[in-house]
Amino acid sequence: MNEVLLKDLYEYAQINNVPIIKDEGLDKLIEIIKKINAKKILEIGTAIAYSSICMALNSDAYIDTIERNKKMYDLAVDNVKKYNLPSRIKIFNEDALMIDTNILDKDYDLIFIDAAKAQYRKFFLKFSPLLRTGGIVFTDNLSFHGMVKKYQENNLNDVSKDLKALVRKINDFNIWLKNYDEFDTEFIDIGDGIAISIKK
Ligand code: SAM
Repeated sequence: MNEVLLKDLYEYAQINNVPIIKDEGLDKLIEIIKKINAKKILEIGTAIAYSSICMALNSDAYIDTIERNKKMYDLAVDNVKKYNLPSRIKIFNEDALMIDTNILDKDYDLIFIDAAKAQYRKFFLKFSPLLRTGGIVFTDNLSFHGMVKKYQENNLNDVSKDLKALVRKINDFNIWLKNYDEFDTEFIDIGDGIAISIKK
């Protein structure tokens, strides 16, 4: 349903190689937003605002979203206007690792982490204090196109050193998250691999 609603953005992303959330992951994300009746969402990694707009159209939540790339940010601003959502989606053109969290809201119901994979632990630790107790961190791309499994099986040999290092970092993040006892985390093997972490 969502990619039909946003066919224009979906096609733009495919044609221009902009990575956006996969349909299955998006369906799960929206299911959770509805289930917890999320009113305030923080997203790390806007790209062209495909997921932000999908979240907004499928809920009545307010969304703050952070994007460091100016070209992506400009496209996101245009897309949010096109869908008449500037009053519900606020885009920050900043590096999430540098942003002063005081300019953001507090007590978010859900945080969607979807930016540079190598920095996931830093994002998690920086932004999870802004989440209310019982709120959810939704993390995407944790199987990284099946490469994390290959890495675990010691079978990731046909890739560059840099890519292998990135896959190792994602694997390390998964292990860390599983054992991080301020959250209860469930890993779900849909889309590109997601984690749903509930703040205790
Ligand atoms: N959430 C989007 C969607 O599903 O439609 C896709 C986001 S895309 C996978 C990741 C985006 O995160 C890229 O546009 C990239 O420029 C941005 N990004 C990466 N590292 C970032 C950082 N440290 N701060 C802010 N944005 C970042």
